[in-house]
Amino acid sequence: MASVTEEASVQPGDGGAAARIAVENPATGETIGTVPSLAPDEIAELARRAREAQPAWAALSFEDRGRVLYRAQKWMVDNIERIIDVVTSESGKTHEDAQLADYGYTVGALGFWAKEAEGYLADERVPSWNNPVVAGKRLIIRYAPIGLVGVIGPWNYPIANSFGDCIPALAAGNSVILKPSEVTPLSSLLMAEMMHECGLPDGVFQVATGDGRTGAALIDHVDVLMFTGSTKTGRTVMKAAAERLIPCYLELGGKDPMIVCADADLERAANAAAFYSMNNGGQVCISVERVYVEEPVYDQFVAKVTDNVRALRQGAPAGIGSVDVGAVTFPPQIETVEDHVQDAVQKGARVLVGGHRRPGAGRFYEPTVLVDVDHSMKIMSEETFGPTLPIMKVPDAEEALRLANDTTYGLQASVWTRNVERGEALARRVEAGVVCVNDAQVNYSALNLPMGGWKSSGLGTRHGATGIRKYTKTQSLLVTRLAPKRDLHMFPYSRRRTKALRRLLKFLYGRGKRA
Ligand code: NDP
Repeated sequence: MASVTEEASVQPGDGGAAARIAVENPATGETIGTVPSLAPDEIAELARRAREAQPAWAALSFEDRGRVLYRAQKWMVDNIERIIDVVTSESGKTHEDAQLADYGYTVGALGFWAKEAEGYLADERVPSWNNPVVAGKRLIIRYAPIGLVGVIGPWNYPIANSFGDCIPALAAGNSVILKPSEVTPLSSLLMAEMMHECGLPDGVFQVATGDGRTGAALIDHVDVLMFTGSTKTGRTVMKAAAERLIPCYLELGGKDPMIVCADADLERAANAAAFYSMNNGGQVCISVERVYVEEPVYDQFVAKVTDNVRALRQGAPAGIGSVDVGAVTFPPQIETVEDHVQDAVQKGARVLVGGHRRPGAGRFYEPTVLVDVDHSMKIMSEETFGPTLPIMKVPDAEEALRLANDTTYGLQASVWTRNVERGEALARRVEAGVVCVNDAQVNYSALNLPMGGWKSSGLGTRHGATGIRKYTKTQSLLVTRLAPKRDLHMFPYSRRRTKALRRLLKFLYGRGKRA
């Protein structure tokens, strides 16, 4: 049973008995806790505290802030069982899924940002030689903390995609308010407890539990918004941010294609297809959601994938190594999965494995492989976000590429071939923010490699320099040390000085050829 100290989340009130949200274990159907649903005035109070606490936090050195993050890293190591227990009980995912991403990603990220924040945010000197008006002056770019960061997260990775985005914001010297999904709030409350125990000053990191209305209220108070969730909500959130004229970064849905060339290592490609479509129950924004296989190896690939998927064990996680595929975390998601599979079957697809909701306790959908699919089917064009793998035969990689790009999404993609030069060339033609060659998803662990979607999959990136600078205000400094009493371009205008400036401009820029 999950255990979290709610008080550690610095809630201003309990929202009243009527405004509590029950948290369910999707693998068993049990209620495992309740959390308050914060009202707009309570969010305003959290924001007031956050703003009060932020200047002192920002005044600390990177090293001092980093020390708190390193302590949190150690806390995670010491509390691994408890963290995984909380994540698995509110999401219904397996221990391994919780350990790899929610735990493994976050424990690494705490140390990464503690170490790298200063380098990414250090003052930068830029040269002044490119225009005579500024020549010889000191030009400096400074990254100042933006103030109060709002993070709104989804339910599929209750720690990695929620608290994970708070870490660089904290390292940069901001206060943060995190609004987790109402379906999985306990993991965020546990992170608040951790940060409190590790010495983060009160008010610097707070969790605002509640539903979409709580998220909407949060946008009214923050200086920048980092949102992870569906494309539909992303649009709503961006409109609200536009009203307030605050920056808004969006990590949204995807329909990631996998392109398997005839010369691919089929064993690896088939293992990867099964894993990267079914891990976390397929509830991964960067899941393999559709596969295109070149004709000569199609039958062999389908046979291998089918064997792999058929062997998967599904059920309520009962400890390490007990099951491979967990539950469907979000109640309405199982209807989307069913709808996509039924729509495909009605339009002529064949189900080779699975294809049904599992009877009995908990919310499970069988790991499912489909063939004879095409782009008229929802399963090939809309985000399914479940344990499904539709596979399509294509004459060649050019056709695979055309189909891969035939989508409004552009989050990630993968290309599989033994010819890595060709693989990279194909990858550069896929319209997606990240493309892997002979791999998938693991780019997410490269914290120095930006990750973000093109098209309807998002705006902006997480990770790398841009993943922390988005939580800052850029300030440009121009410092003049030695200068005449009056510069050439200053008043009063005179014929002599205007002509002198013109000669200078001609000298500097007039020597090139026009052809
Ligand atoms: P939703 O868009 O439904 O919700 C995301 C968050 O927004 C939740 O906390 C939700 O609260 C909140 N919210 C809902 N309405 C509003 C509103 N009007 N204003 C402010 N906040 C609001 O997404 P899901 O939780 O269903 O997550 C699944 C989606 O997330 C998938 O599409 C997946 O692809 C995407 N995702 C993208 C990732 C990426 O990196 N690109 C990573 C992980 C997931 P509540 O839940 O309480 O209603």
